[in-house]
Amino acid sequence: MALVLCTLAVSGCDYFFGPAQEESVTEDAVLFSTFVQIQIHEWPQGTDPEKVISEAFTEMESTGSIVSVYDENSDINAVNRAAGESVAVSEETFYLLQKALEIAEMTGGAFDPTIGPVVDLWGFYTGEHRVPADDEIEEALARVDVNRIELDEDARTVRVPGDMRLDVEALAKGFAARAGAEHLVKSGITSALITSGQSSLKAVGDGPEGRAWRVGLLHPRAEQDVYAAVELRDGESLSTSGDYQRYFTEDGKRYAHILDPETGYPPRTMQSITVVTPDTVIADGLSTALFVLKPEEVLNRVEQMPDVSVAMMTAEGRVKYCSQMEGRIELVDD
Ligand code: AMP
Ligand code: MG
Repeated sequence: MALVLCTLAVSGCDYFFGPAQEESVTEDAVLFSTFVQIQIHEWPQGTDPEKVISEAFTEMESTGSIVSVYDENSDINAVNRAAGESVAVSEETFYLLQKALEIAEMTGGAFDPTIGPVVDLWGFYTGEHRVPADDEIEEALARVDVNRIELDEDARTVRVPGDMRLDVEALAKGFAARAGAEHLVKSGITSALITSGQSSLKAVGDGPEGRAWRVGLLHPRAEQDVYAAVELRDGESLSTSGDYQRYFTEDGKRYAHILDPETGYPPRTMQSITVVTPDTVIADGLSTALFVLKPEEVLNRVEQMPDVSVAMMTAEGRVKYCSQMEGRIELVDD
């Protein structure tokens, strides 16, 4: 546990810790308004790891910004501005929206990529946070319905009714990490770890000396402490969602940026959830969606998902994890 490779200034980031490597290259950047890091531990002879990282950053930047609700020129904002008309989108955006529908299906609608009007109401886009009145929430919820997204695969167009608003922010970091990893693999990199935002990690190959990567999960209420270490292997992704990354408090109550599409309110059953699974976009989407559900329901649901492992810190501060997580998680005593 000697080496923390993630910058401490970036609070909320899950850490990788392992032995110091003389032969490794780590670069940080801020892309699509998000802190990202790539560390490469093994590369083929003749390959310049710094150049590969810089190219991977370029891929991550274009992938992240094309779907970001915070980028005015993104495909997602083009659909939102189109007032109910069909909009042609990039292959990447179309793929991501298909994934979004898949995650909505997997989670019984806890994931909803049309949650935009409710996120807006709580001020999470502008930073002008407020607790909305019940009738405002009701009105915004009437404009949230994943089933009203129309995807035309042949024309590669997207349409949502004019009063609705797409938001796939919950997938953007994982999607960018996926693009970065594809570039690393294509460049022959055999051991690397990508950190995208404060929450999405992707392993390319195993860690140094062929061992698993060990990732520290930050304690949601003591953010310089880790409460557990989780192993990641070649190709696996890890994503954490929680109520400590983006939130505001009013009258002593915490209101976090993940909202329950049933109620329009931030759920209060956990402090954080971490998902490990091969697909980086699914990891990112599942962590957001499962955060909405009750811990027992999460455990029941993931029983049907053999390649998904989850660990949660419940609202009461208790750690719970599913049977798939056994053997890859180690709790850290405080
Ligand atoms: P993440 O940090 O990956 O958990 O994603 C959180 C972001 O996803 C929020 O800032 C919202 O933009 C969006 N979001 C919030 N609630 C939901 C939800 N229930 N389903 C899909 N996206 C959501
Ligand atoms: Mg997410």
